[in-house]
Amino acid sequence: MSIEEQSFHDFDLNIIYEYFSNVERQGPGSPEITLKALSFIDNLTEKSRIADIGCGTGGQTMTLAQNTTCEIIGVELWANFIKQFNQNVEKLNLQNRVKGIVGNMENLPFGEEEFDLIWSEGAIYNIGFERGLNEWRKFLKTDGYIAVSEASWFTDERPAEIHQFWHNAYPEIDTIPNCVAKMQKAGYIPVAAFILPENCWTDNYFVPQIPVQEAFLKKYAGNKAVEDYVAWERYESGLYDKYKAYYGYVFYIGKKV
Ligand code: SAH
Repeated sequence: MSIEEQSFHDFDLNIIYEYFSNVERQGPGSPEITLKALSFIDNLTEKSRIADIGCGTGGQTMTLAQNTTCEIIGVELWANFIKQFNQNVEKLNLQNRVKGIVGNMENLPFGEEEFDLIWSEGAIYNIGFERGLNEWRKFLKTDGYIAVSEASWFTDERPAEIHQFWHNAYPEIDTIPNCVAKMQKAGYIPVAAFILPENCWTDNYFVPQIPVQEAFLKKYAGNKAVEDYVAWERYESGLYDKYKAYYGYVFYIGKKV
Protein backbone atom coordinates (compact mmCIF):
# COMPACT_ATOMS: atom_id res chain seq x y z
CA MET A 1 0.00 0.00 0.00
CA SER A 2 1.36 3.45 -0.84
CA ILE A 3 1.41 6.19 1.77
CA GLU A 4 -1.48 7.99 0.02
CA GLU A 5 -3.68 4.95 0.48
CA GLN A 6 -2.88 4.40 4.14
CA SER A 7 -4.96 5.96 6.85
CA PHE A 8 -4.47 6.53 10.52
CA HIS A 9 -6.45 3.38 11.29
CA ASP A 10 -3.85 1.12 9.68
CA PHE A 11 -1.12 1.78 12.23
CA ASP A 12 -0.50 0.05 15.54
CA LEU A 13 -2.27 2.01 18.28
CA ASN A 14 0.68 1.60 20.63
CA ILE A 15 2.90 3.45 18.18
CA ILE A 16 0.39 6.26 17.82
CA TYR A 17 -0.12 6.63 21.56
CA GLU A 18 3.58 6.60 22.39
CA TYR A 19 4.19 9.18 19.67
CA PHE A 20 1.50 11.54 20.95
CA SER A 21 2.40 11.15 24.63
CA ASN A 22 5.52 13.17 23.74
CA VAL A 23 3.61 16.30 22.72
CA GLU A 24 1.50 18.62 24.83
CA ARG A 25 -1.50 18.50 22.49
CA GLN A 26 -2.84 15.55 20.55
CA GLY A 27 -4.89 17.65 18.13
CA PRO A 28 -4.83 21.14 16.55
CA GLY A 29 -5.66 23.93 19.00
CA SER A 30 -4.25 26.57 21.32
CA PRO A 31 -4.97 28.13 24.72
CA GLU A 32 -6.16 31.31 22.95
CA ILE A 33 -8.71 29.35 20.93
CA THR A 34 -9.92 27.38 23.96
CA LEU A 35 -10.51 30.74 25.65
CA LYS A 36 -12.24 32.17 22.58
CA ALA A 37 -14.65 29.20 22.55
CA LEU A 38 -15.13 29.55 26.33
CA SER A 39 -16.10 33.21 25.84
CA PHE A 40 -19.39 32.07 24.21
CA ILE A 41 -20.45 30.12 27.33
CA ASP A 42 -22.28 32.07 30.00
CA ASN A 43 -23.61 31.26 33.47
CA LEU A 44 -20.65 29.14 34.64
CA THR A 45 -20.18 29.24 38.43
CA GLU A 46 -18.19 27.24 40.99
CA LYS A 47 -21.19 24.89 41.13
CA SER A 48 -21.03 24.14 37.39
CA ARG A 49 -19.69 20.86 36.07
CA ILE A 50 -17.77 20.35 32.83
CA ALA A 51 -16.98 17.09 31.01
CA ASP A 52 -13.99 17.18 28.62
CA ILE A 53 -14.43 14.18 26.34
CA GLY A 54 -11.41 12.67 24.58
CA CYS A 55 -9.27 14.94 26.73
CA GLY A 56 -5.89 13.35 25.87
CA THR A 57 -3.17 14.48 28.27
CA GLY A 58 -5.29 17.54 29.10
CA GLY A 59 -3.72 20.46 27.18
CA GLN A 60 -7.08 22.24 26.77
CA THR A 61 -8.49 20.95 30.08
CA MET A 62 -5.82 22.79 32.08
CA THR A 63 -6.70 26.01 30.21
CA LEU A 64 -10.38 25.47 31.06
CA ALA A 65 -9.51 24.75 34.69
CA GLN A 66 -7.35 27.83 35.06
CA ASN A 67 -10.00 30.09 33.55
CA THR A 68 -13.12 28.83 35.32
CA THR A 69 -13.98 27.81 38.86
CA CYS A 70 -15.92 24.72 37.77
CA GLU A 71 -15.52 21.05 38.58
CA ILE A 72 -14.06 19.31 35.50
CA ILE A 73 -13.97 15.64 34.57
CA GLY A 74 -11.72 14.60 31.67
CA VAL A 75 -12.59 11.33 29.94
CA GLU A 76 -10.10 9.46 27.81
CA LEU A 77 -9.80 5.94 26.42
CA TRP A 78 -6.03 5.63 26.82
CA ALA A 79 -4.97 5.02 30.44
CA ASN A 80 -1.44 6.40 29.97
CA PHE A 81 -2.85 9.72 28.76
CA ILE A 82 -5.03 9.88 31.89
CA LYS A 83 -1.96 9.19 34.01
CA GLN A 84 -0.21 12.16 32.38
CA PHE A 85 -3.43 14.20 32.70
CA ASN A 86 -3.65 13.60 36.46
CA GLN A 87 0.07 14.40 36.87
CA ASN A 88 -0.58 17.73 35.12
CA VAL A 89 -3.53 18.34 37.46
CA GLU A 90 -1.29 17.83 40.50
CA LYS A 91 1.48 20.02 39.13
CA LEU A 92 -1.05 22.85 38.83
CA ASN A 93 -2.59 21.97 42.21
CA LEU A 94 -6.08 21.59 40.74
CA GLN A 95 -6.86 18.14 42.17
CA ASN A 96 -9.70 19.47 44.36
CA ARG A 97 -11.87 20.11 41.28
CA VAL A 98 -10.25 18.49 38.21
CA LYS A 99 -9.98 14.77 37.60
CA GLY A 100 -9.18 12.54 34.63
CA ILE A 101 -10.89 9.17 34.27
CA VAL A 102 -10.49 6.33 31.79
CA GLY A 103 -13.70 5.94 29.82
CA ASN A 104 -15.20 5.44 26.39
CA MET A 105 -17.06 8.29 24.68
CA GLU A 106 -19.41 5.69 23.21
CA ASN A 107 -20.50 4.58 26.67
CA LEU A 108 -19.94 7.42 29.11
CA PRO A 109 -20.35 6.66 32.83
CA PHE A 110 -22.59 9.70 33.45
CA GLY A 111 -26.17 10.26 34.47
CA GLU A 112 -28.74 12.44 32.69
CA GLU A 113 -28.39 16.21 33.00
CA GLU A 114 -25.20 16.06 35.07
CA PHE A 115 -23.29 18.73 33.19
CA ASP A 116 -23.47 22.44 32.41
CA LEU A 117 -20.90 22.15 29.65
CA ILE A 118 -19.56 19.37 27.44
CA TRP A 119 -16.21 20.12 25.85
CA SER A 120 -14.36 18.08 23.23
CA GLU A 121 -11.40 19.29 21.16
CA GLY A 122 -10.26 17.26 18.18
CA ALA A 123 -11.91 14.08 19.47
CA ILE A 124 -15.60 13.84 18.53
CA TYR A 125 -14.61 12.33 15.15
CA ASN A 126 -13.92 9.10 17.07
CA ILE A 127 -17.65 8.60 17.62
CA GLY A 128 -18.70 10.78 14.66
CA PHE A 129 -19.91 14.39 14.86
CA GLU A 130 -23.60 13.70 14.51
CA ARG A 131 -23.65 10.65 16.78
CA GLY A 132 -21.62 12.44 19.47
CA LEU A 133 -23.92 15.48 19.45
CA ASN A 134 -26.98 13.26 19.69
CA GLU A 135 -25.74 10.80 22.32
CA TRP A 136 -24.04 13.31 24.61
CA ARG A 137 -27.02 15.70 24.71
CA LYS A 138 -28.74 13.74 27.52
CA PHE A 139 -25.82 14.42 29.89
CA LEU A 140 -26.40 18.18 29.61
CA LYS A 141 -28.82 20.26 31.65
CA THR A 142 -31.33 22.31 29.66
CA ASP A 143 -29.56 25.56 28.68
CA GLY A 144 -26.22 23.75 29.03
CA TYR A 145 -23.62 24.12 26.29
CA ILE A 146 -21.61 21.87 24.04
CA ALA A 147 -18.34 23.06 22.49
CA VAL A 148 -16.53 20.75 20.07
CA SER A 149 -13.84 21.22 17.45
CA GLU A 150 -14.10 19.19 14.27
CA ALA A 151 -12.30 18.96 10.92
CA SER A 152 -14.49 20.61 8.29
CA TRP A 153 -14.50 21.52 4.60
CA PHE A 154 -14.36 25.23 3.82
CA THR A 155 -15.72 24.89 0.27
CA ASP A 156 -18.23 22.71 -1.58
CA GLU A 157 -15.56 21.40 -3.97
CA ARG A 158 -11.94 20.42 -3.43
CA PRO A 159 -9.02 18.77 -5.27
CA ALA A 160 -9.18 14.99 -5.54
CA GLU A 161 -6.02 14.32 -3.51
CA ILE A 162 -7.28 16.00 -0.34
CA HIS A 163 -10.79 14.68 -0.86
CA GLN A 164 -9.41 11.15 -1.00
CA PHE A 165 -7.24 11.63 2.08
CA TRP A 166 -10.19 12.67 4.21
CA HIS A 167 -12.46 10.11 2.65
CA ASN A 168 -10.06 7.45 3.99
CA ALA A 169 -9.39 9.11 7.34
CA TYR A 170 -12.87 10.41 8.25
CA PRO A 171 -15.62 10.19 5.65
CA GLU A 172 -18.07 12.11 7.87
CA ILE A 173 -16.09 15.36 7.42
CA ASP A 174 -18.57 17.97 6.15
CA THR A 175 -18.93 21.65 5.31
CA ILE A 176 -19.48 24.27 8.01
CA PRO A 177 -23.16 24.96 7.17
CA ASN A 178 -23.88 21.23 7.14
CA CYS A 179 -22.25 20.78 10.55
CA VAL A 180 -24.21 23.72 11.95
CA ALA A 181 -27.42 22.17 10.56
CA LYS A 182 -26.54 18.84 12.21
CA MET A 183 -26.06 20.65 15.51
CA GLN A 184 -29.48 22.28 15.23
CA LYS A 185 -31.09 18.97 14.25
CA ALA A 186 -29.54 17.27 17.28
CA GLY A 187 -31.38 19.68 19.61
CA TYR A 188 -29.02 22.59 20.17
CA ILE A 189 -29.19 26.26 19.22
CA PRO A 190 -26.03 26.90 17.18
CA VAL A 191 -24.38 29.73 19.13
CA ALA A 192 -21.11 30.07 17.21
CA ALA A 193 -18.89 28.42 14.63
CA PHE A 194 -15.39 29.73 13.99
CA ILE A 195 -12.33 28.48 12.16
CA LEU A 196 -9.18 27.72 14.15
CA PRO A 197 -6.29 29.85 12.86
CA GLU A 198 -3.41 28.20 11.01
CA ASN A 199 -1.01 28.37 13.95
CA CYS A 200 -3.22 25.83 15.78
CA TRP A 201 -2.09 23.31 13.14
CA THR A 202 1.43 24.50 12.43
CA ASP A 203 3.09 25.88 15.61
CA ASN A 204 0.92 23.89 18.01
CA TYR A 205 0.47 20.58 16.21
CA PHE A 206 2.84 19.77 13.35
CA VAL A 207 5.97 21.65 14.54
CA PRO A 208 6.11 19.99 18.02
CA GLN A 209 5.96 16.61 16.23
CA ILE A 210 9.21 17.19 14.29
CA PRO A 211 11.62 16.35 17.17
CA VAL A 212 9.37 13.42 18.16
CA GLN A 213 9.61 12.04 14.62
CA GLU A 214 13.39 12.28 14.66
CA ALA A 215 13.66 10.63 18.08
CA PHE A 216 11.22 7.90 17.01
CA LEU A 217 13.16 7.06 13.86
CA LYS A 218 16.32 6.75 15.97
CA LYS A 219 14.73 4.72 18.77
CA TYR A 220 12.97 2.35 16.36
CA ALA A 221 15.59 2.28 13.60
CA GLY A 222 14.66 -0.44 11.06
CA ASN A 223 11.08 -0.80 12.34
CA LYS A 224 8.96 -0.56 9.21
CA ALA A 225 5.69 0.19 11.04
CA VAL A 226 7.26 3.16 12.83
CA GLU A 227 8.88 4.42 9.61
CA ASP A 228 5.54 4.18 7.81
CA TYR A 229 3.75 5.95 10.62
CA VAL A 230 6.24 8.84 10.69
CA ALA A 231 6.02 9.06 6.88
CA TRP A 232 2.22 9.21 7.17
CA GLU A 233 2.36 12.03 9.74
CA ARG A 234 4.78 13.95 7.49
CA TYR A 235 2.46 13.36 4.54
CA GLU A 236 -0.47 14.72 6.55
CA SER A 237 1.51 17.81 7.48
CA GLY A 238 2.51 18.39 3.82
CA LEU A 239 -1.10 18.01 2.73
CA TYR A 240 -2.18 20.66 5.21
CA ASP A 241 0.38 23.03 3.80
CA LYS A 242 -0.80 22.38 0.27
CA TYR A 243 -4.57 22.33 0.81
CA LYS A 244 -5.26 24.49 3.88
CA ALA A 245 -7.55 26.72 1.78
CA TYR A 246 -9.99 23.80 1.57
CA TYR A 247 -10.24 22.45 5.12
CA GLY A 248 -9.37 23.05 8.72
CA TYR A 249 -10.66 22.69 12.24
CA VAL A 250 -13.81 24.53 13.26
CA PHE A 251 -15.15 25.11 16.77
CA TYR A 252 -18.91 24.54 17.00
CA ILE A 253 -20.73 25.82 20.06
CA GLY A 254 -24.34 24.98 20.80
CA LYS A 255 -26.85 25.45 23.59
CA LYS A 256 -29.20 22.63 24.56
CA VAL A 257 -32.86 23.49 24.08
N1 SAH B 1 -8.47 16.86 23.28
C1 SAH B 1 -7.07 16.51 23.15
C2 SAH B 1 -6.86 15.17 22.45
C3 SAH B 1 -7.34 15.09 21.02
S1 SAH B 1 -6.84 13.59 20.20
C4 SAH B 1 -6.33 17.63 22.43
O1 SAH B 1 -6.98 18.42 21.71
O2 SAH B 1 -5.11 17.71 22.58
C5 SAH B 1 -8.26 12.55 20.38
C6 SAH B 1 -8.30 11.81 21.71
O3 SAH B 1 -9.49 11.03 21.77
C7 SAH B 1 -7.14 10.85 21.91
O4 SAH B 1 -6.52 11.14 23.14
C8 SAH B 1 -7.81 9.48 21.92
O5 SAH B 1 -7.17 8.54 22.76
C9 SAH B 1 -9.17 9.81 22.43
N2 SAH B 1 -10.17 8.80 22.08
C10 SAH B 1 -10.28 8.07 20.94
N3 SAH B 1 -11.34 7.26 20.99
C11 SAH B 1 -11.95 7.47 22.19
C12 SAH B 1 -13.10 6.92 22.83
N4 SAH B 1 -13.85 6.01 22.23
N5 SAH B 1 -13.41 7.37 24.06
C13 SAH B 1 -12.66 8.31 24.69
N6 SAH B 1 -11.56 8.86 24.14
C14 SAH B 1 -11.20 8.45 22.90
